[in-house]
Amino acid sequence: MLGLMQSQPLLISNIIEFAALYHGDTEVVSRRVEGDIHRTHYADVAKRARAVACALDAWGLAQSARVATLAWNGYRHFELYYGVSGSGRVLHTVNPRLHPDQMAWIVNHAEDEVLCFDMTFLPLIKAIAPKCPTVKHYVALCDASALPVDHGVPNVVAYESWIASHQAAATGYRWPTFDENLASSLCYTSGTTGNPKGVLYSHRSTLLHAMASAASDSIGVNGRDTVLPVVPMFHVNAWGLPYLLPMVGAKVVFPGPALDGKSIYELFEGERVTFSAGVPTVWQMLLGHMDANGLKLSTMKRTTIGGSACPPAMLDAFRDKYGVTVNHAWGMTEMSPLGTYGTLKVKHMEADWLTQRSVLLKQGRAVFGVDMKIVDDAGIELPRDGKAYGNLMVRGPWIIDQYFREPAKILDTEGYFHTGDVATLDPDGYMQITDRSKDVIKSGGEWISSIDIENIAMAHPAVLMAACIGLPHPKWDERPVLCVVKKPDAVPSKEELLKFYEGKIAKWQVPDDVLFVDAIPLGATGKMQKSKLREQFKDYKFA
Ligand code: ADP
Repeated sequence: MLGLMQSQPLLISNIIEFAALYHGDTEVVSRRVEGDIHRTHYADVAKRARAVACALDAWGLAQSARVATLAWNGYRHFELYYGVSGSGRVLHTVNPRLHPDQMAWIVNHAEDEVLCFDMTFLPLIKAIAPKCPTVKHYVALCDASALPVDHGVPNVVAYESWIASHQAAATGYRWPTFDENLASSLCYTSGTTGNPKGVLYSHRSTLLHAMASAASDSIGVNGRDTVLPVVPMFHVNAWGLPYLLPMVGAKVVFPGPALDGKSIYELFEGERVTFSAGVPTVWQMLLGHMDANGLKLSTMKRTTIGGSACPPAMLDAFRDKYGVTVNHAWGMTEMSPLGTYGTLKVKHMEADWLTQRSVLLKQGRAVFGVDMKIVDDAGIELPRDGKAYGNLMVRGPWIIDQYFREPAKILDTEGYFHTGDVATLDPDGYMQITDRSKDVIKSGGEWISSIDIENIAMAHPAVLMAACIGLPHPKWDERPVLCVVKKPDAVPSKEELLKFYEGKIAKWQVPDDVLFVDAIPLGATGKMQKSKLREQFKDYKFA
């Protein structure tokens, strides 16, 4: 017997209409590419998103046609999130930090028909347009007056005039209703090895992910929060925040292209931001700026750090110097991205800070909806004892089934997806990433976690950034070597840094050498690219 309840499809357009109706005057603030601060609200975002939908209809774009964006976090990009997906097309967010050849490859693979771009990217668009034959229309995200006469892009319209000409038709527009399993957006993994792979989200997966993120032991923001998403809308839908924030009616502050410490700090204070989310490299810049200028945070309460492991020194700095709670989160493009979120349980509330801190430094517990297990190389499940480490596997309604246009089966017999991370699971359900499987250091049959080594280095006052890599060793297969970027004016010696490990980890885990470098290569999503460092030092000889 089936239940007798309504089965309204879960559609992205529902979110923006809800926000327009119940949070219509809640502000959406953007630092624009033009440099100024722009203010609008949810009612207007919804109105302009409807005009985007009508404009796409007028071009005769079929259902599921791909509309690409090459844009920063801002209100126009936000409107496209709703106008494109809400009208049944697929929003393909392209990461501008990729190599132009890779971008062209992605646009061709997705067969994008429309490409919307921020003016920052005009030179890039000029370079890739001849290589993108599927794109019929380009939309410059600006006023017509901001588009130079010699723009050099074929079939381009300025966004403002494009939607203005459809605003009348958009009055009374009703979003189409369709199967909630229809594709809504597309994001390619950064493809550190081989070609990027497309992850195709659906309306259903996106809404379930947003609802799960809204739980208070998850991202859990609400209608009294002001949120600044530092995480980019061009990668994994800014961790789903563009859907979650209108769903709960939070005020939004989009930072645009300015992600340096000073710009972010000014928005935090000026807009009274209470919550933010980003990768550690961005927070490093903010903390550096506040430290150098003796600044404090007056409204910020909580930040979520993910994408890479949060160094303990960062959690301490936020808490001890600025009174900000850090919650650690873990996920990946293939998971929409949220998998785990780090919060305490009742039983931890009476514990001392060091105990609480050790819990919060783990990557967190599974969000309801995500199943996790760790397995050995033969696929046998390992114990959840906090000690055994193995390949982390996940399944759930917002986790990938198959890559876009890659028919190969990628799940195990129980339907779990192989994350490529190595982790432990403890009896309380907290997961801790030991390493990315390709970064783990295999020394004499034992594994050394590069993250553990880096976290210790990051606590040294002279270290700005640290990456630990395994380099080939004649006796031990691999041995760890620490690559360090010094803080300006600091002069740490190799001996001093190695001594810093004494008593913190086993002797055999201490790196064999320290190499000082000017910079650590970062990938398109702001993560350290240890593969590049391994390549750079491939001829290194151990003494
Ligand atoms: P890409 O697009 O670069 O492949 P994603 O943005 O999908 O990567 O990132 C996924 C990976 O990032 C995870 O598999 C994991 O290795 C790493 N990661 C994400 N969050 C964390 C975290 N909190 N701690 C450690 N590693 C993390």
